[in-house]
Amino acid sequence: MSNLSADELEVIQYVKRFANDEVKPLAKEIDLKMEVPDKLIKRMHELGLFASYIPKEYGGYGMSFSFLVNVIEELSKACPSTALVLDGALTLFAEPVLMFGSEDIKKRYLPRVVNGEVGGLALTEPGAGSDAAAIKTMATKEGSEYIINGSKIFISNGRLAKFYVVDVVTDASKKHKGISTFVVDADTPGLKISRDIHKLGIRGSSTVELVFENVRVPEKNIVGTLNEGFKVVMETLDAGRIGIAAQALGIAEGAFDEAVKYAAQRKQFGKAITEFEGIQFMIADMATKIEAARLLVYEAAGKWDRHEDCIKISSMAKLFASDAAMDITTESLQLFGGYGYTTDMDAERHMRDAKITQIYEGTNQIQRVIIARKILEEFGI
Ligand SMILES: Cc1cc2nc3c(=O)[nH]c(=O)nc-3n(C[C@H](O)[C@H](O)[C@H](O)COP(=O)(O)OP(=O)(O)OC[C@H]3O[C@@H](n4cnc5c(N)ncnc54)[C@H](O)[C@@H]3O)c2cc1C
Repeated sequence: MSNLSADELEVIQYVKRFANDEVKPLAKEIDLKMEVPDKLIKRMHELGLFASYIPKEYGGYGMSFSFLVNVIEELSKACPSTALVLDGALTLFAEPVLMFGSEDIKKRYLPRVVNGEVGGLALTEPGAGSDAAAIKTMATKEGSEYIINGSKIFISNGRLAKFYVVDVVTDASKKHKGISTFVVDADTPGLKISRDIHKLGIRGSSTVELVFENVRVPEKNIVGTLNEGFKVVMETLDAGRIGIAAQALGIAEGAFDEAVKYAAQRKQFGKAITEFEGIQFMIADMATKIEAARLLVYEAAGKWDRHEDCIKISSMAKLFASDAAMDITTESLQLFGGYGYTTDMDAERHMRDAKITQIYEGTNQIQRVIIARKILEEFGI
C-alpha cells in the first residue's frame, strides 16, 4: 500500500538504486569513521532529495510528505546516519519554517535547503529532555534583536548544519507559553559547538552540544509568533516522529533482508537453518512486525499530507516501528549466531542503530503518554 503518485513511485526506484549502490557500500565505513562523507550529501542534493519536499515557489519539487517518508525508509535500509542528514534538514528544519515561518523567512532559508544546505533542530537541554517545556536557554530583547544565552545538547546534524530552528525562553513567567522558536545561523558570533557526542549507534550522524553566548538574532527570525514557539516545536515533532518511524522501518527491513538471505545459505544438521520451524517462526514474526510498522508509518504520512490530526498516529507509528526495529534487529543478529555478534557482519550495527529510534524525538515512554492522553480525550475522560 502506498500513498505515492505514479511520478513519485518512479523516482523512488532511483532512490532505491542510489541507496543500494552508493550508500550501502559505505555504511560500515561511515559507522567506523563516525562521519557521513560530503560526497554522499552532494549526491543527495544532485538527486534532488533536499528539494523534493520543498514547495515549488521556493525552488523545490513540491513532492509529498509520503514521498519523503519513503526516501527516509529507503536510505535507512542502507545507512540510517545518512538518512538522518536529510530527515533533519527537511522534517526538523524545513517543516517548522514551512508551517509557521513568515514569507520572508521562507524565502531566505528554503531555497538554501533546496541547494543542499543542512539544517537542524535545537530543543533539548541538559536539564530538559522529555520535559521540553523546562528549557532554560533565554532570549532577551534589545532593540530589534534578541540576545540568546544558554546551551543545547544532543543536536543532530550539529557539524553539518548551516542553520537551526532553536527554542528559547522569551518570557520566563509563562512556562511553555513563554517559549519562542527562532531560526539561528550556525555561523552567528557566540554560537559554538562545545563538544561532539559519541554514541552507541547512528555513529555517522554528527551529534553535538551547542553553547550560546550573547548570540544576536534579528526579531524577524522568529518562526511563528512570539511566545508561541512550543506549539511550533510540538507540531514539528508530530512530523518528525513519522520520519523517525520511517527510519526505524528502514533499519528493520535492511537487517531482516540480510538475515533471511544468510539463514537460507547457512547449513547446520545437514540442512539450511531456514528449514527449521523454530527459524521459520522467527522469520514469520519479524515479517509481520515489518508489515504492521509499514502500514502505520504510511498511514501517518498520508494523514500528514492530508493535514489531518496526526498526534496519535505519529506517536503510534514511532512507538511501534521503533520497538519493532529493536526486536527485529536483535532477532536478525540471532539468526547469524556467533557471527552476528562480531563486527565482521552488519547485524550488530543494525541493532546499535535501531536503539536510538526508541529514544529520540520523544522516548517511547513519552509516546505512550501522548497516545494514552489522546485516547482518554476521545473517551471524554
Ligand atoms: C543521538 C541523539 C540525537 C538527538 N537529536 C536531537 C536533536 O537533533 N534535537 C534535539 O533537540 N534533541 C535531540 N535529541 C534529544 C532527545 O530527543 C532526548 O534525548 C529525548 O527526548 C529524551 O530526553 P533525555 O535524554 O533528557 O531523557 P529524560 O527525559 O531524562 O528521560 C530519562 C528516562 O525517563 C523516562 N521518562 C521521562 N519522563 C517520563 C514520564 N513522564 N513518564 C515515563 N517515563 C518518563 C524516559 O522515557 C527515559 O527512559 C537527541 C538525542 C540523541 C541521543
